[in-house]
Amino acid sequence: MSVVEELAKYQRVVIDQDTCISCGACVAACPYQALELDDNGKSRLIWEKCRDDYSCVAVCPVKCIYKASEAPAEYKSKKGWYRLGKTLTPEEKTAFDQWRAKYNITAEPA
Ligand code: SF4
Ligand code: SF4
Repeated sequence: MSVVEELAKYQRVVIDQDTCISCGACVAACPYQALELDDNGKSRLIWEKCRDDYSCVAVCPVKCIYKASEAPAEYKSKKGWYRLGKTLTPEEKTAFDQWRAKYNITAEPA
């Protein structure tokens, strides 16, 4: 499987940081270290690390993490809930652009 196909197959999650209560449960639960608390203590996704097992969705006590396919559009447009953990190669950038288009992610990465 190519880099693009590998990265493009994950839908990932969308986080409503305004509802997040900074408990850290999702960060602890993610098996892929794909979540962190940002400078404001809010959960943030590290885009290229997510592998779609949804432990984070299951443990969040305020249910503010959504599968990308199920997330309300208003949360997809807010900046801050995801970032890139590295400089993307051209192939990775292609997968990133495909993900944004497929799930209507209008927010730029933090
Ligand atoms: S869906 Fe799984 S891999 Fe992705 S951020 Fe949540 S717990 Fe981590
Ligand atoms: S589990 Fe939910 S409330 Fe707790 S840090 Fe993660 S997103 Fe925020």
